[in-house]
Amino acid sequence: MPELPEVETIRRTLNQLVVGKTIDRVKVLLPRIIQRPEDVEEFCFLLAGQTMRSVERRGKFLRFVMDDYTLVSHLRMEGRYGLYDRNDPLELHTHVVFSFTDGSELRYKDVRQFGTMHLFPKGQEFEENPLKKLGIEPLAEAFTLEAFRAKLAGRSTKIKPLLLNQEYIVGIGNIYVDESLFVAGIHPEREARSLTRKETAALHSAIVSTLQDAVRAGGSSIKSYVNGQGEIGMFQHQLKMYGRKAESCYNCDHPIEKTVLAGRGTHYCPKCQPMKRKRAKKVKGALRP
Ligand SMILES: [Zn+2]
Repeated sequence: MPELPEVETIRRTLNQLVVGKTIDRVKVLLPRIIQRPEDVEEFCFLLAGQTMRSVERRGKFLRFVMDDYTLVSHLRMEGRYGLYDRNDPLELHTHVVFSFTDGSELRYKDVRQFGTMHLFPKGQEFEENPLKKLGIEPLAEAFTLEAFRAKLAGRSTKIKPLLLNQEYIVGIGNIYVDESLFVAGIHPEREARSLTRKETAALHSAIVSTLQDAVRAGGSSIKSYVNGQGEIGMFQHQLKMYGRKAESCYNCDHPIEKTVLAGRGTHYCPKCQPMKRKRAKKVKGALRP
């Protein structure tokens, strides 16, 4: 499944490929991809004549912003977009075709057929599902250390499941949560509220830098074809934790352990990410001025 950095890379590439193009007509070959409106013919009718103004992202959802409408698209497991010429033969598993007035076509392919598209009058997409309940964006300016700290305060939930909860913080995903917790030296099963101020700051900057590095790595390797599988990013080669069970930790050489937490494969170094936090040295009177 593509995670936030992959979706961000896809978004940037789509921006270069489709912005300024006007939709001539839309063909839907698999109606169940279209979740809103219910009537697929209406979906096609509303999109005809619309010009692509920008491609944005909210969590792992892409937002195609047009003159009057916004198309919200989720790639799920294997959805992918590609730009074609109208004369190119239709490939297998192509479910939606957006034909532009310039003769090019944006085609949506999805082998697993789990992807979704919702069409809203522009701006209304934030008031309704699936975007309505989404939590804070980790790469947005609003994701400050103070905002993060406020989110953790008083939560007895384990830190990893909390970071995977989309209503809390969007789009980090399993791989990058493991990477961020390692960078910050925090055990994935620690209670959120048990994190010290220093640990919270370390985790906040680890999340931001891990995601930014991944976006940078993904953004350098893509040209005209947009792959929704996460294969485009080169970041996989730089992973410090994820998928490295029993291999030695880059930091201390201790073998990396793997466990299952909240149903997700979880990698961590027991030495660098101890379950019990190190006690801060007590200094008499340190808290009082
Ligand atoms: Zn280690």
